[in-house]
Amino acid sequence: MNTLTPGSTIGMLGGGQLGRMMAMAAAELGFKTHVFCPDLDNPTEQVANAATHADYEDHAALEAFANSVDVVTYEFENIPVSTVEFLKKTTNVFPSSKVLEVSQDRLSEKTFINKLGIETAPFKGVSTLEEAATALEGIGYPAVLKTRRFGYDGKGQAIVKSEAGLADAWQKLNSKEIIIEGFINFDLEISVVAARSQSGEIKCFAPVENIHKNHILDLSIAPARIDQSIKELAIANASKIVEKLDYVGVLTVEYFVSQHDPVLRVNEIAPRVHNSGHWTIEACPTSQFEQHIRAICGLPLGCVDFIGEARMTNLIGDDIDQYGALLAEKGASVHHYGKSETRAGRKMGHVTRLYPNGY
Ligand code: AMP
Repeated sequence: MNTLTPGSTIGMLGGGQLGRMMAMAAAELGFKTHVFCPDLDNPTEQVANAATHADYEDHAALEAFANSVDVVTYEFENIPVSTVEFLKKTTNVFPSSKVLEVSQDRLSEKTFINKLGIETAPFKGVSTLEEAATALEGIGYPAVLKTRRFGYDGKGQAIVKSEAGLADAWQKLNSKEIIIEGFINFDLEISVVAARSQSGEIKCFAPVENIHKNHILDLSIAPARIDQSIKELAIANASKIVEKLDYVGVLTVEYFVSQHDPVLRVNEIAPRVHNSGHWTIEACPTSQFEQHIRAICGLPLGCVDFIGEARMTNLIGDDIDQYGALLAEKGASVHHYGKSETRAGRKMGHVTRLYPNGY
């Protein structure tokens, strides 16, 4: 156990809104934050105590950073594994690089999950158009082609409805590292935000239902409107994943739920706090951000019970213009990420509405 006392400094790799909200939670618990991020203008730094602007592979900057903090964590999953390995020589890093190796590659991620006895879409890794055609004979159409690495919010993906569309989809993705997945005819997408402490204690927030617009999360409904048996399975599987990874911190598991198919399938895991967990700030005694800070600082996990049902809506691009109106709305908790430039598709903030007596 590496228990930190208030006044200690948490090193944060990445400067986005997730880092910002973790830094705010850290401050509430009496900790300081030092952000490491290449960008000068970043949302985390506005609420952090110190900042280093350097590339994630700048070893001199990383070494100085590691010497100035008491623990390191990260707010996005595309941090190079080598960066975490380097920092680990000087300081503790939670979560460990093991989860990055698994989750940065969709092929190793799905292989790992299946090995635990947890279902995913059927999949196959391919590197040529010919291999893709052969794989599709087994998986069938429609199918989803995805780049194995660096995909997010639907980027690096193409749906193939029939053999005739394969060559176009292949060309569009323009990569030799592709995973083909069977298309899941799901009714709902849900996620579970799980946490595991340094002592191995596991706590999961209730499964939340996620509705996307243009491949970006639009609305999260907590709790998800699903059967109790699915809720329990989603939590049991998320717990198994964090346990098997010997994970420390918050990790999110996204699932597909189909009414006509009793199988609960994992879509992907994110080794971090997650957009679909923002509702926990208002709706639970301990938010996902505080839970992560507790875990990495060697503290006991907090309570994940509901104070009330909640709905979280993302404010994407121009949605942030509703800021004034939302502030005037009774019961709406408004979060602005402090980004100086509004761009289409950019997450600018979110609003959570709490329903203590049910929605
Ligand atoms: P991902 O980047 O893998 O999370 O995919 C983004 C979105 O694409 C998901 O939230 C789903 O709505 C959709 N999607 C991804 N994979 C599949 C699949 N195998 N079958 C059906 N829809 C999918």
